[in-house]
This record gives sequence, structure tokens and C-alpha cells, in this order.
Amino acid sequence: MADRAAPAQSGVPNLVKTPQQLRTLTAGWRKADGVVGLVPTMGALHAGHRSLIAAAQKACDRVVVSIFVNPLQFGPGVDYPSYPLQLEADLEQLGQLGIDACYNPAVETLYPKGFATRVLVSSGGDLWEAASRPGHLVGVATVVAKLFAATGPCRAFFGDKDAQQVVVVSTLARDLDTGVEVVVCPTVREPGGLAASSRNQLLSPAGREAAQSLSRALINAGEMFASGVVSGAELAKAAAQVIDLEPGARLDYAAVVDPVDFQPVETATSNSRVMVAAKVEAVRLIDTALLGSPPHPSN
Ligand code: AMP
Repeated sequence: MADRAAPAQSGVPNLVKTPQQLRTLTAGWRKADGVVGLVPTMGALHAGHRSLIAAAQKACDRVVVSIFVNPLQFGPGVDYPSYPLQLEADLEQLGQLGIDACYNPAVETLYPKGFATRVLVSSGGDLWEAASRPGHLVGVATVVAKLFAATGPCRAFFGDKDAQQVVVVSTLARDLDTGVEVVVCPTVREPGGLAASSRNQLLSPAGREAAQSLSRALINAGEMFASGVVSGAELAKAAAQVIDLEPGARLDYAAVVDPVDFQPVETATSNSRVMVAAKVEAVRLIDTALLGSPPHPSN
């Protein structure tokens, strides 16, 4: 592996604003036989993002973190305007983490007037996030295809928390001959079990408490499965009940699904995936785990 540059004390060595600049930079890294790691984010960096960055730094010679709040993946009137932005603090943090470049294009750079392409990946199913947030996964696939095109062959790191997104980006990485290897990283949780998310900072302290019902729902389903219940419908109902019992949370869905096509399963196995989504205050949250490896109750 090529030598990694010494971590900067503060600031990021390369702040890249256009796909052309990124392509030139990563081509140079690959020419020196370096393996390039890409960590796509929407910023407001938290422990989940940091775990992806750490995994990329371990597995790659050079790491680029993208920060781009992608308007295409938000529904009309949904939380795009309120999505947390903290670029200065993020860059400071990325500098301290010793990453090699941050790709932070403007919206007009990625979507100039006349932009007319959408990437539709017909895997990941048409339920759950696909149904609750029409257009969301197309928006994700479109921006990720652009990030892959600008970065070139690399390893790209994504979180298991966004399980349908993982299937969509893995499929497009393969189908579009990108030369990108998708690496999936486990969900990082706060004490109390709440999955780290940029949106958590929009919650009040009471909201944070209520939001813990999502991980409790996963734990409950996992415990029932461990005690011998295998009916997918029953397990999903048990997960839903945990969230329904929390006055501060409004359930969107709770499901026990096949991990590849996201169809509900009749008979669950340890590989079946529990998926939950709920609104707490004005914030929509999702969480997921395999039935056989639910979050640890002491989290
Ligand atoms: P976002 O900035 O929310 O678009 O997330 C960027 C990446 O971080 C995605 O691949 C997410 O799946 C991943 N991610 C978000 N939250 C977590 C978490 N709690 N643990 C691990 N990865 C996460």
C-alpha cells in the first residue's frame, strides 16, 4: 500500500468542488497504486460516519469523504430545508481524522440547468422506504452514480442502517460497470440504543427518549425470535407494539423481511431483517437489524 500522508492538524488537504477535480485527484492516487476509499455523506458528521471513515482508512490508501445534501432524494416539502448543515465543523473534524480529500460540490455543479438523468434500480423492493418516500431511492441512486463516476474505481463505504439503500447502490455499482466495491458497515448507536443520525440533533431531550423505542422494537423482535417465535407477522406486530406504546413516536412501519428483496417473510430466520420507521417530533427515523443480531439491550 502507498504511504498515507500525515494527518493534517486541522483542515482537509484537498477540498474538491467539481467532478473534474475529483477525477484528476483520484486518478493520480490510483496511478501511484493506491486504493481509493469513498465515504458518501450528507454531512453533520456523527459517530456512524466516523466508523465508515475509520473502516475506509483501514482498508484503503487514500480516503475521500463527500459532503453533499442531495435535493433529489428528499420528497417535495419534506425536510430538505431543515436538514442540518455544519460544513465548517465537518471540515475541521475531517482534518483531525486525517482524511485525504473532501468532495463538496454545489447543487448547481451536480445538477446544472438541463440535468435530465435519473438512475432507477429495480432492486431493493418497492416497499418500506421506497413506498414511504416516493422518489427517494431514485434520488440516492442518481447521486451515488455521479459520485462513483467522479471518484472512479474505489471501495465505497455505506451503513447497514440504510439497508434498502445498500442494495440499490450495490446493484448499480455492479450493473453500471463502475469498478466500485461496496463495503457495508454496522450501525453505530448512542448509549440507550438510538442509531446515530444527523437528524438526531433536531430532537429535544424528550424526543431522544421517545426515539429509543425504535431500537427497543428491534430488540423485542430479536428476543421473541430467540425464544422460538418464527412467524414474520407476529414478530413484526411485536416490534410495532413497542413503538405504538411510546406516546412520543408515531409508527410508519414495522416489518420482518427477506434481506435481499425486502418482501415480508412468513417464516423468519436469523437472517431475516426487522425494519422500523417512525416519526418523533418532526423527525422521521429508521432503524433495522437482522433478527439473529439485534442491538445489544445494554446499549
Ligand atoms: P447520511 O449522511 O445520513 O446520508 O449517511 C451517510 C452514510 O453513513 C450512509 O452510508 C449511512 O448509511 C451511514 N450511516 C448513517 N448513520 C449511521 C450509523 N448510525 N451507523 C453507521 N453508518 C451510518
